[in-house]
Amino acid sequence: MNVMVAGGAGYIGSHAVKMLFEAGHRVVAIDNLYRGHRQAVHPKVAFHQTDLAETRQLVDLLERYEVECVMHFAALAYVGESVTDPLAYYDNNTAGTISLLKAMKTAGVERLVFSSTCATYGEPEGVPIVETMGQSPISPYGWSKWCVERVLRDYSAANPAFAFVAPRYFNVAGTASDGSIGEDHHPETHLIPVILQQLLGQREKVVVFGTDYPTPDGTCIRDYVHVEDLCEAHMVAMNALTPGDARFYNLGIGKGYSVKEVIDSAERVTGMKVNVEYGPRRPGDPAMLYANAQKIFDELGWKAKYTEIDTIVGTAWNWFKGHPHGYAE
Ligand code: UDP
Repeated sequence: MNVMVAGGAGYIGSHAVKMLFEAGHRVVAIDNLYRGHRQAVHPKVAFHQTDLAETRQLVDLLERYEVECVMHFAALAYVGESVTDPLAYYDNNTAGTISLLKAMKTAGVERLVFSSTCATYGEPEGVPIVETMGQSPISPYGWSKWCVERVLRDYSAANPAFAFVAPRYFNVAGTASDGSIGEDHHPETHLIPVILQQLLGQREKVVVFGTDYPTPDGTCIRDYVHVEDLCEAHMVAMNALTPGDARFYNLGIGKGYSVKEVIDSAERVTGMKVNVEYGPRRPGDPAMLYANAQKIFDELGWKAKYTEIDTIVGTAWNWFKGHPHGYAE
């Protein structure tokens, strides 16, 4: 299939570009390179630096490459930043997606895979989270994605030929198993990279955000899904799309690991000792978030292959130890 990957130079998008290319799809990657890395895009894949706001340019590219499906990863994704700069989030994530949809409509492209998030559930009704639970985000980031889900439902209702799937990601982690691409965020706030950067001497310590949560060891529990599993789910979902589809799936492994368990895992994988400091809670962190991923298994047969935290952390370590300064080297 001819596939456009929006946000193709970002962490998840670059892994999707690689996987789609290797699976034989004809891929064109776009990215505004605000936070993406040109080097992350597979060298044999066409790349265009463009912003989602550039509707006319998007139409041209969709037509030129005869795109049949868009995978859209181009988003700002820091919860804390979304609180201090909500307009940037609604502008890029919500308005940007509307611009993309308008371009797709003009160019006659009727398939979309849209990166949504478990942040749309806010403080969940319970765990594991099922897709039918109420959605009430607790950050502008979560709302910016929730708004797109709403837009997609309405657009799809008005356009029977349009088909979309919106996977709701849990905590995406790990890097390409062949070591060719990885994860390079500025600033880096995610737990696994933060731990590995500490072990590489780039941070003095890892602060554990809260030890008084109602969990077995008092630290937060999250569902860490490997980036390759996640991208594979996108391909499976893309291939299954038929006109009129409006699908939502949780993408997680279906079980959670605590912050302490992730630190223990990093120590096992690296054979090194993490310098840990126990600090207060980080605002906006629910105690437990993990997926019930049964729906995508029942409907599409996908389930995560990486389910052990040591293997997930191991792929990340493989990248970080070889690229201690990310793509800058
Ligand atoms: N966390 C932590 N210290 C850090 C970064 C993260 O204790 O330096 C915790 C955070 O409170 C959460 C979990 O690790 O419970 C995963 O956080 P991350 O930022 O990786 O992802 P999020 O769950 O916010 O999407």
